[in-house]
Order: sequence, then C-alpha cells, then structure tokens
Amino acid sequence: MSSNLVIVYHRQPYEEVDVNGTIEFRENKSPNGIVPTLKSFFGRFDSGAWVAWKETEDPANPGFEHRVEIEDDHGAYAVSRLPLTREQVKSFYEVSSKEAFWPILHGFKERYNYDPVDWPTFREVNWAFAEVAAHEAAEGAVVWVHDYNLWLVPGYLRRMRPDLKISFFHHTPFPSADMFNVLPWRKEIMESLLACDVVGFHIPRYVANFVSAARSMLDVEVTARQKVDKDFAAEFSALTEVSVPYELLFNEKKIRVQASPVGIDFGYITDVANTPETQTRAREIRADMGEGKLLLSVGRTDYTKGGIDQLESFERLLETNPDMRGKVRLMHVSVPANQNMTVYENIQSDLEQMAGRINGRFGSLDWQPIALISRAVPFTDLVAFYRAADVAWITPLADGMNLVAKEFCASRTDGDGVLVLSEFAGAAVEMGSALLTNPFSNKSMDSAIEQALAMGEAERRDRMAALRRVIQTYDIRFWAEHQMQALGGDEARLTTLPAAV
Ligand code: UDP
Repeated sequence: MSSNLVIVYHRQPYEEVDVNGTIEFRENKSPNGIVPTLKSFFGRFDSGAWVAWKETEDPANPGFEHRVEIEDDHGAYAVSRLPLTREQVKSFYEVSSKEAFWPILHGFKERYNYDPVDWPTFREVNWAFAEVAAHEAAEGAVVWVHDYNLWLVPGYLRRMRPDLKISFFHHTPFPSADMFNVLPWRKEIMESLLACDVVGFHIPRYVANFVSAARSMLDVEVTARQKVDKDFAAEFSALTEVSVPYELLFNEKKIRVQASPVGIDFGYITDVANTPETQTRAREIRADMGEGKLLLSVGRTDYTKGGIDQLESFERLLETNPDMRGKVRLMHVSVPANQNMTVYENIQSDLEQMAGRINGRFGSLDWQPIALISRAVPFTDLVAFYRAADVAWITPLADGMNLVAKEFCASRTDGDGVLVLSEFAGAAVEMGSALLTNPFSNKSMDSAIEQALAMGEAERRDRMAALRRVIQTYDIRFWAEHQMQALGGDEARLTTLPAAV
C-alpha cells in the first residue's frame, strides 16, 4: 500500500454499528478527544492509513475484513485492523501494559506486578503492529505511533523500513531513571524509542525524565537544550522545569524530544456548554442544590486519581467545619475501567465504603454530603455538571495531563467557577491560575478546598479568565500541529512551545 501518513493507535477511529446485519462505520458519538484531530491530518496527505487492533477468536479467519476504506468529513483513508485473540489482548494490554508499565509510569513501584507479564507475547503483538504499519507506509512516509502499549513498534519498524519518519507520543507521564529502570525490559524499550525521529511527551518534565533514563543505560548525548516557555512553567507546580533538552544524538542519529500538552476542543465544548439543553440542565442541578455549594470530582477509577485521599479530605472538612454540614455537597464521579481487574474493583469498593461511611456519619434525611456516581456520565451531561459546579476538585496523585480540568474551564463560558488542581497533574504546568494543591499533604488539600469555597467572585473570575486563555490557545489542534512540526526538523521551530497561536 502507499500511505504518506500512517497513524498507529490501539483503538479504531470510529464506532462500528450493526444495522440489520450490515456493519456501518460511524463517527464516535462524542467528538471529544484526540481521534477527530488525528483524523483531520488525513486531509493534508495524499493518502492515509490508521492501524488498530480488533478482537477475534481466530486470527487466521477473523470474520471481518482486515482493511476497510473509510470516507468521512476528514477525507478518505484506510483502516487496517490487526486481528488479535482475547488472550493476546489480555496479555499485551491488560497485563503487561496495565499491571507492569502503568504503575511504573505513574511512580507506584509498590503496585508493579512483574510475575504475570508474558514478554514474548508483548513483542509478538508489537511486531505484528509494526508489520501492518510497514505494509501500509509509502516510501518516506510519516508513521505516528501512540502510547506505551506499542513501545516496541518504532524499533521493529525501523528495522523493516529505514526510510520512514517515525514519531511516538506518550499519553502518560514518563518517570525518572530511578523509577523507569525497575522495568527489566528497560533497555529494549529505550532502544526502540531511540529509533524514532521524534519522541513526544505532554510536558517538559517527562522529556527530562526520558533523557535521564536514556542516559542511564546508553551513550546518548544531549546536543541542544532550551528554556521552557513561561506558559508551561507554572511557579507552584511540582512538575515544572526551567530548561529542557530538545535534541539528542544516539548512534550518529539525531532524535528530537518534544513536549506538547494534549489540549481540548475548545470550540466544541463551548458549543455544548451554550446549548439550551445544557443550560437548562445546569439550572436544574443548581436549583436542586438550593443555597448549597457543589463540589465536583470526575475521573477514572484508578489509584493514580487519588479518590480515597480526596474523600478523606472532604470528611475532615465536614468534621472541622460543622457550619458546612448541609451546605456543601460533593459529586464524585468515578468511572470504572472496562477491564475486570481486581486492583480497580478494590478501589471502587473502597470508595463506595468510604462514601457510605461519610454519608452515614454526617448525612440527614434532607442532605447527603456525597453523591457517588460509579458509571460513565455522557459527555453532554458532564458539561452541564461542569457548568453547575462551584468548584471542580481534581487532585490526582499522578496524571499525564488531566483533560477533565481543561474541560471544566472550557465549559465555563459564564467566566465563573473555581478549579482546584493537583500540582502532580501534567495540566498544572499550564494551569498555574488554578488553586494548585499537593495531594500528599493533608494540610495543603484541606486549605485548598476551604479557600476555594470561600473565594470571592472577583478572584474567581480573574483566575478563570486566565485559565480559559491558556486552554483556548493550547488546544487539541495546537498539540497535533506542534508534534507534527517536530518531524520537519526545522531549526526555526525549535522552541519548546512557540508563541501563542
Ligand atoms: N469522561 C466522560 N464521562 C465520565 C467521566 C469522564 O466522558 O463520566 C471523560 C472526560 O470528559 C475526559 C476523559 O473521560 O475527556 C478523561 O480524561 P482525563 O485526561 O481527565 O483522564 P484519563 O482517564 O485519560 O486518565
């Protein structure tokens, strides 16, 4: 085949819907997220392809077409579906990626589980992805690979096709050498990543960590560094870096390392926030609250998201401020991951137990302090909650970026609302106008939420205006353009982040 742009992403870029026995490919119901932006690049290349996996019982006879041609608003492109068995998906994605890599990427050594990892299967699946991408790519094509479950793809691809331009983006944090080197496969992973032309991360700290890990095991030279733009160096964030490498030399080959924070689709969220339905729904939620204040916490059920620590802080708030009882509610949305993994089930049940205990301890017939929602809220409803909340309370212990924080601010076309954000979320380096808090300190957590609840309107509006400026400028398109530009290797573009667009 001959695609000039090949995107390798684990999920397919559409929803497959069975209409009376015929499969139709439809745009994802919620156009929120990175998929539409990635697809928008297909319009700029002569031909494009997307590589993803699709589960089957028998990869030799998968019962679906390997390759489908799609024509949608973004142009015409092919989708190559790599057939994988349930066992392969479980092994490479749910076990190796989620039980071994995920805890290390987020700095949770104690949760790292080496025993069930089947490394030959991880290699085999990554090899298969690389083969499909190599098959799709035209001479000199750009191949953009996404996320750590495909860590070995760049190395394999380089062996198969030395002519390609390969870029890899991490959607998670990247840890320092002390943490990354817990992985016994570290050198193999690192050599694969160093086969790229560009390795991308959300923020400069992850670039710095990556370089430190690379230099701990291989003779990698830093050939260029730069100052981090002030828009990405919030003063009080634990993740801020002052300067960062941007070019490396390894085996006589240059590698660009670049931070570009994933953003949100500001225009889309503004439209959703301004629909009459959203406004009515937000007014209803507010009316239910009466004079009370609504705190909103939204995240996946994951130990990295710090849900338990947050409930503990809320309990202390009610304990030490009896006047707040009956006047403040926490809506805690904790969406379970779709895998049946014990670690996530345990967190869910801990959250339920703790919320039940706090409700029992402080609640009354008319007032329950916590509404725990353990299912995914559709995005349009979520925007209504963002609009209705007084405070968004987003305090992960570790988080690559955190889009919920950005979505909350994008939804606030009214210019009001307070964001309390963990300084360990990647978004904190951009969102220094939020109330930044340290979720490892009870004192910091408790004072941030008290300050948020007491904040006057003028300060709320000032902070929100600054936050909205940042997320509107550095939106999802900025992210994709900035990563793509890095492949050009143009000296003039070698700033961590160019001036606002
Ligand atoms: N989300 C949603 N419904 C929910 C909870 C979350 O649609 O009930 C979406 C949310 O809007 C956001 C995404 O899930 O776009 C979570 O992204 P984030 O970067 O905050 O965290 P991640 O889950 O990627 O770690």
